[in-house]
Amino acid sequence: MGKTLFDSPSFANHEGVHAVFDEKTGLRGIIAVHSTARGPAVGGTRMWNYASSAEALEDVLRLSKGMSYKNAVADLEMGGGKSVIIGDSRTQKSPELFQAFGRAVDTLGGRYYAAEDVGVSVADIAEARKVTPYVLGLNDGPEASGDPSPVTAEGVFRSTLTVARRLWKQDDLTGLTVALQGIGHVGGYLADKLHAAGAKLVMTDVNEALLSEVAARTNAEIVAPDVIYDVKADIYAPCALGATLNPQTLDRLSAKAVVGAANNQLATPDIGQMLFERGVLYAPDYVVNGGGIINVASELNARNTGGAYDPAWVEAKLSRLMETLEEILERAAAEKRPTHQIADAIAEARINAARDQKAEQLKAA
Ligand code: NAD
Repeated sequence: MGKTLFDSPSFANHEGVHAVFDEKTGLRGIIAVHSTARGPAVGGTRMWNYASSAEALEDVLRLSKGMSYKNAVADLEMGGGKSVIIGDSRTQKSPELFQAFGRAVDTLGGRYYAAEDVGVSVADIAEARKVTPYVLGLNDGPEASGDPSPVTAEGVFRSTLTVARRLWKQDDLTGLTVALQGIGHVGGYLADKLHAAGAKLVMTDVNEALLSEVAARTNAEIVAPDVIYDVKADIYAPCALGATLNPQTLDRLSAKAVVGAANNQLATPDIGQMLFERGVLYAPDYVVNGGGIINVASELNARNTGGAYDPAWVEAKLSRLMETLEEILERAAAEKRPTHQIADAIAEARINAARDQKAEQLKAA
């Protein structure tokens, strides 16, 4: 904490970091454009009660870089960005605040597109849309991509099948136990798919009403939130919070594979190395959960071409992403390296190639 921008450990050659402020509505936020090499920077807006602006800066720097990697590995013509609004999303929201935020996004002229993230709803983004075209994740109009969760869940499910084929040489999940943490938007759809494919489910959530409903229809065993790490399972599926793979949980997990929707599952990159050394196959989070951003990308395409949301295009991109996951797992095995390093290398190579090509084009122009 207390670090300035350039000596922050999370600063990673970001193209632009913009403080946004509006006195009338109390807007205080930061928009970080990590890279526009592959296209406009796209990434959600998070509203969070950060303890300090330094904490908000760290978060937006880290998250915006993550979006560059996620978008590149999904082979989308989009760069990476993210924004944060400092405040309590339960008490400090107003339509005017999101319109002020929309005006701030608009000043970037399309270098950054905002969308929903933690604490920000479709209704909030719709307020911003009144003043700028540079937002995505809307609910109405032909281009609207709607709730991305079913597509995210489908990607997590197919990733689980890929892992089962590699580790257990089977095409379905019969006889395998999945420890599912979080059965919200993504986890709920995922539970149904895992159950239909023959998996035995052990699940947890802090929402007990939802938990008993989903467990009943998927024949699942219920455990308390903290017990999920101790469950004897073949696969651990984190679908709630980030950083659940950390030094405390690692010793408790018995699963041979980790495949889940949560963002930023590794508390620190060295946890990826530790999982590798323990022989646990970690399917990199931002590859596994890329279905959601692919869904959003279809809205951007439709916007640019005057067309409509295209489920066939989404399916083609998701299939390609699943091939990329296979490549990552294959390369990691061949090179005896952790999977997250291979995923990062693929993303970095794509971003750097696009950046160099752009620089050449500018020189030639
Ligand atoms: P959600 O809020 O709908 O679901 C999260 C669930 O986790 C909720 O049911 C909540 O009660 C539960 N939960 C919270 N704390 C918990 C705890 N300590 N133990 C167990 N359960 C707990 O969110 P979602 O949209 O389903 O997303 C789940 C994860 O996937 C998040 O990390 C999100 O960032 C990530 N993700 C989501 C999408 C998407 O399309 N929705 C896309 C990419 C990544």
